[in-house]
Amino acid sequence: MIYLCGNSLGLQPKITKEYINQELEDWANLGVEGHTEGKNPWLHYHEFLTKTMAEVVGAKPIEVVVMNTLTANLHFMMVSFYKPTSTRYKILIEADAFPSDKYAVESQLRHHGFDDHEGLILWKAREGEELANYEDLETILEAQGDTIALVMIGGVNYYTGQFFDLKRITELGHKKGCVVGFDCAHGAGNVTLDLHNSGADFAVWCTYKYMNSGPGSLSGCFVHERHANNKDLNRFTGWWSHNKQTRFRMRDAFDQLPGAEGWQLSNPPILSMAAIRASIDVFKAAGFDNLIEKSKKLTGYFEFLIHALDNPDIKIITPSHPEERGCQLSIQVKNADRGLHDQLTQAGVISDWREPRCDSLCPRTIIQFFSRCLQYGRAIENHFIVV
Ligand SMILES: *Cc1c(COP(=O)(O)O)cnc(C)c1O
Repeated sequence: MIYLCGNSLGLQPKITKEYINQELEDWANLGVEGHTEGKNPWLHYHEFLTKTMAEVVGAKPIEVVVMNTLTANLHFMMVSFYKPTSTRYKILIEADAFPSDKYAVESQLRHHGFDDHEGLILWKAREGEELANYEDLETILEAQGDTIALVMIGGVNYYTGQFFDLKRITELGHKKGCVVGFDCAHGAGNVTLDLHNSGADFAVWCTYKYMNSGPGSLSGCFVHERHANNKDLNRFTGWWSHNKQTRFRMRDAFDQLPGAEGWQLSNPPILSMAAIRASIDVFKAAGFDNLIEKSKKLTGYFEFLIHALDNPDIKIITPSHPEERGCQLSIQVKNADRGLHDQLTQAGVISDWREPRCDSLCPRTIIQFFSRCLQYGRAIENHFIVV
């Protein structure tokens, strides 16, 4: 089989088993003592991930924590960063945002007593175009910025593959007094995110797509350094948000941990964290810059091959500029249907199928290719999705 579906679930690195087995062994041999006596003491396990994860997303260690799952983190971030008032309560997202994100922001609007339709502003592509345009975002913010509490954009749009300029969006939002956050599920491990310098207030991502950390694995979360010690931000807390030094005295009044760690609630699932640790160690060994460089070459080569087909029914909707995309190419195929996907499957190519966008006049299939090379030993991984 040719596995081209790593955008949905990344493949298992060879060393993952070893990392998980280590924890299973410590659990078998040490029981509860594994928290302190294990080879990698569980009490500190999340800290083993922080530095490399911060490097992968371009953040400072104090700004990053691995915890919970993605949509859950998005909600926890909105508890702190979506603070609607009677006049400034709207949320701006990109049209064609990943459904979970749309459902999450709609439910936040309802939770605060607002209408989830009226309160949601969509940044849409222009008629006849596929990609969102920054001038349109400026126009929306100029006209309605004072009513927008939160700008929440997918760092790389899952549908078109458009890698947004996070810094530019953040500056536009902040200029109008909006909080700005990003869902980087399709960005983490795929593109150079530079989250710290983007100035974004928060970001979230998952680790099971481009970061190959296993089904349903934990999410990463970024909170900008300027919020690290802000104890006035509203948040939901648990014992893992409490000062590590006094956490186990169990009777103390709550004492907020500084930085992104302070958003944790629970002691984390170590087995999934072991899989993340294995994966980011592969990223570290390969060198993230090397990975990006190879990814750009592969994607460019693939684009060249598609253009060489010279078929007017086939159109790449992903930006052609390498800085405006990751390893994804979304391709519209006119007059094609699911049969195209089935043929690919029969040819031994594992891929995703999603319902096409409603467009009755022009039946078409959108194929998204995710070509990325992860060089670990001789492992080569490509990603592919059919919408
Ligand atoms: C994959 C993905 C999700 C999935 O959310 P989970 O909570 O991990 O199930 C949400 N948002 C985006 C943008 C995604 O790409």
